[in-house]
Amino acid sequence: MKAMVLHAIGRPLVLEDVPEPVVGPNDVKIRVKAIGVGLTVVHMIANPGQVTAYPRIPGHEVAGEIVALGSEVSGFTIGQRVTNHFYLTCGQCRYCRAGRETLCTAFKGYVGMACDGGYAEYMVLPARNFVPIPDGVSDIDAAVAADAIATPFHACTKEAQVQPGDNVLVFGAGGGVGIHVVQVAKASGARVIAVEIGETKLAGAQAAGADDLIDGSRGDIAKQVAALTGGRGVDSVIDVVGAKETLEASVTALAPGGRLVIVGVRPPAVFGDSSKFTLDATVVVRKGIEVRGSRYVTATEIAQTLELLRQKKVRAIVERTFPLDQAEAVHQLIRDNRLVGRVALVVD
Ligand SMILES: [Zn+2]
Repeated sequence: MKAMVLHAIGRPLVLEDVPEPVVGPNDVKIRVKAIGVGLTVVHMIANPGQVTAYPRIPGHEVAGEIVALGSEVSGFTIGQRVTNHFYLTCGQCRYCRAGRETLCTAFKGYVGMACDGGYAEYMVLPARNFVPIPDGVSDIDAAVAADAIATPFHACTKEAQVQPGDNVLVFGAGGGVGIHVVQVAKASGARVIAVEIGETKLAGAQAAGADDLIDGSRGDIAKQVAALTGGRGVDSVIDVVGAKETLEASVTALAPGGRLVIVGVRPPAVFGDSSKFTLDATVVVRKGIEVRGSRYVTATEIAQTLELLRQKKVRAIVERTFPLDQAEAVHQLIRDNRLVGRVALVVD
């Protein structure tokens, strides 16, 4: 089969003919139709320690059609359309059993890093990782939903606990994840204040439903938030950027009792800076604020996200699609931060 293969850390992917993956007793094999592409793959190629062995096929937000089932697999059928959860979890530990599977203590790594992923014609994963795609949701939309929309779903519902009437500030509101945070927060009934840099991304956030826009390159953001909220601040901040400047501005922008939800981080190997920031305990106590880390989603939350798409409460914003062999060009667009919304690769 055709696949885009990574041979060493930091190297360009190479289009190759490789053997089709073998189906174990508890696995499901799919013919890949679409793969969402975002910062996670770019991080993984640049950061030592995430890919466990080479050669490796990346790609972790994938949609396709089931072509083979392991001998022990039940609950799926040949021809069924599915997308996938991208953590290899045990299903047995206290966190898996408590519905917090992204904290799995027997975590085996990530799809596309600890095992081959979806930049290929076929992909095999444990059956537990697959989630059915409902009728009415396209392959491209489902692939993007598995990470770029499901992650905002978890951040808004579980971590920020957005309520109707809340004021929610979104840092990085025009990017692949942020633009979907705007939509999920709106679908939760919030008024959304979007922070981005540059006209194109601000326009993207507005088109996604943001009520108010702040250009992050122009002046004190917390001051602008205060002006937009009658001096009170926001009930929650969802920070997809995770830079020192955005995190510190977030804390200042929070209303008393507010929640800062951190979704994005900035690995030094990719960005040359870090996500360390200063947090004054006096402020945390005086304002009674919470700082929460939002780590991906459960498989159930992927199903809930797909249902939001089916109901058309949220739409996948996919700026462009590319053929599989253009993966490297797509990665460069992401590194250059030149995309509004998500991009996807399609496999013929
Ligand atoms: Zn576990």
